[in-house]
Amino acid sequence: MTQRILLTGGAGYIGSHTYVALVEAGYDVTILDNFQNANRSVIARLEDLTGQPVTLAEADVRDATTLASLFAEHVFDAVVHFAALKAVGESVERPLDYFDVNISGLINLLRVMDAAGCRKIVFSSSATVYGVPDETPTPETAEFRAMNPYGQTKISGEQILNQLVAADDRWQIGILRYFNPAGAHESHLIGEDPRDTPNNLMPFIAKVAAGEVEELEVFGDDYDTQDGTGVRDYIHVDDLARGHVLSVAALLEDGQSHLVNLGTGEGHSVMEMIAAYKRASNRDIPHRVVDRRAGDVPIYVAKADKAEEVLGFRTEKTLDEMCASSWAWITGPHSQEDPDGEDNT
Ligand code: NAD
Ligand code: UDP
Repeated sequence: MTQRILLTGGAGYIGSHTYVALVEAGYDVTILDNFQNANRSVIARLEDLTGQPVTLAEADVRDATTLASLFAEHVFDAVVHFAALKAVGESVERPLDYFDVNISGLINLLRVMDAAGCRKIVFSSSATVYGVPDETPTPETAEFRAMNPYGQTKISGEQILNQLVAADDRWQIGILRYFNPAGAHESHLIGEDPRDTPNNLMPFIAKVAAGEVEELEVFGDDYDTQDGTGVRDYIHVDDLARGHVLSVAALLEDGQSHLVNLGTGEGHSVMEMIAAYKRASNRDIPHRVVDRRAGDVPIYVAKADKAEEVLGFRTEKTLDEMCASSWAWITGPHSQEDPDGEDNT
């Protein structure tokens, strides 16, 4: 029988790619999203891409009543929980909103799942839980170090889930710590497209290449890295989506809880990213080195072997593919859409 998955935050950047991967893997998927950081037009694009209608619940993950009626209507075999606020700077300014959506939202969801007898969940965590790690590549055993309220919500989310498993062994949990997601789906129908000037490197470089922003500021070139600029482990969003399919399948098949990094195990500097995007777009990327960004981590690179051992997960896509898909998405048909149409995904 087809297994049914609830995807909270399924209209967002990683959620929309995971939706496609889950549907392609044969799951029956329901998206729950309040479109706080996504546009409704993504739903039609997901329908084009998969050739089938999307089952959508437009709701807030903190709304217990609506969640309970959704679980009364459908029997879900597992939940993949993306819905969260994710901007580090904003979390410093509005910590209560972050605790509310990311922590209260999670607790609310877990209570409804428990009452409905659905006790398998995949949780979006982040390399940010490592703060400034002692070890690079960073293994899952590295200690928690919160650098900001956003990071604190991911640490708390993991702790809540672990304590739940300790209290009730009917729960099975997949905690996935993503490194830096980048790129867009090969169809170029979905991708990351922040409305405001983006904070993250890849979407910012894309806007500079497209001529929408004049230049990129490189935040520091005096780190102890290959060329002095910050190093990150960029992972193609389609690889990341596939990691979620493997995590769901593991929970449904053998019921083993797991905690894994999802990264490539390779780091690239800001200068290497500029060079790669230049190759992909054939455009100049004007840039200027400025001071370090407050709170920045010099290097984040995943120790990636546990995901392979536990889930059989290996990344397949290269940095050049990430940049080429990002460029194809940025310059593709969606770029002709009404810029006021809140097209955020
Ligand atoms: P996103 O903002 O594109 O997606 C999040 C989705 O959740 C959006 O569609 C948004 O509308 C929805 N949402 C937000 N609040 C909601 C609420 N209260 N109720 C219902 N829906 C709500 O972000 P993303 O990049 O796809 O990230 C997905 C998850 O992965 C988040 O939990 C994020 O913290 C985590 N993560 C992201 C990154 C990254 O760099 N993108 C890295 C590590 C972890
Ligand atoms: N970065 C930069 N200019 C920008 C945005 C980011 O030089 O406009 C650098 C940042 O200092 C870091 C890397 O790019 O070294 C990745 O930053 P991003 O914000 O994308 O990811 P995170 O720091 O959250 O891992």
